[in-house]
Amino acid sequence: MDLGIAGCWALVSGASRGLGLGCARALAKEGVNVICVARREDVLAEAVMDLQRSCPDPATRIIGVAADITSAQGRQRVFECPDGPGLRFDIVVTNSGGPPPGDFRDWTEETWLAAIRANMYAPIALIQATVDGMAERGFGRIVNITSGAVKAPIADLGLSNGARSGLTGVVAGLARSPLAAANVTINNLLPGAFLTDRLRSASSARAQAQGTSLETVLQERTNGVPARRLGSPDEFGAMCAYLCSQHAGYITGQNILMDGGAYPGVL
Ligand code: NAD
Repeated sequence: MDLGIAGCWALVSGASRGLGLGCARALAKEGVNVICVARREDVLAEAVMDLQRSCPDPATRIIGVAADITSAQGRQRVFECPDGPGLRFDIVVTNSGGPPPGDFRDWTEETWLAAIRANMYAPIALIQATVDGMAERGFGRIVNITSGAVKAPIADLGLSNGARSGLTGVVAGLARSPLAAANVTINNLLPGAFLTDRLRSASSARAQAQGTSLETVLQERTNGVPARRLGSPDEFGAMCAYLCSQHAGYITGQNILMDGGAYPGVL
């Protein structure tokens, strides 16, 4: 299926690894020019080279901007990238690392504000900067990578549950504003267990704490998924690219869970 987005400009943050990289790859394969944002210049440069090689059309632009997307200066650097489109993005995929797990008794006001800044305010700031231009041009797609924990909160991920639920509430209202009539959609993609560096390092920490192997912990994760496997960043990217396509203009304000059937509820 031709997604009808070749030549568009996309901003994908957290794009050097994992789910963000999966989204950037799926968009690049469609001929979308992508500004990839991540903090580490060396890792990002490798990802950009790899993405450029996988583009069917060599004219597709893949540009890396090393910046912390959760800071105002980092976002400014992205919008001022000399080879980029400024604020004229057609597609924005918001993503960054998730907050650490822990016990809510240990979290201070600063801990909460850091989580809210990274996982609630940063996506809102990116949306705020780009969405009115999208509406004027009559096309825009925003996809926020959130978490299955928004639908089924996990006790030790309170910072993630809270900050991402805040973003979900803001998006629910905004997506149904006049933006929808201007063909600007805003959706959230909720990952369950996907095999990325983050999942690997969280699992190896758990393995160490339990005195067991990484393989055992990953197998336990897999056993809890009806699909009996962990998700791949490429299949996550494919869903993201579809939501960004010309065909998905009637999908907005949705929370789309990709978890191999792990969430047990009806709705
Ligand atoms: P990952 O650690 O494999 O990759 C995260 C990417 O974001 C990397 O490219 C990293 O460099 C970049 N990044 C982190 N902080 C950044 C910042 N401040 N500015 C710019 N770039 C930044 O993680 P992942 O598994 O791909 O997860 C992506 C998001 O999805 C996270 O928020 C995570 O909490 C959430 N999530 C993941 C899973 C899963 O199973 N992998 C499940 C639920 C939620």
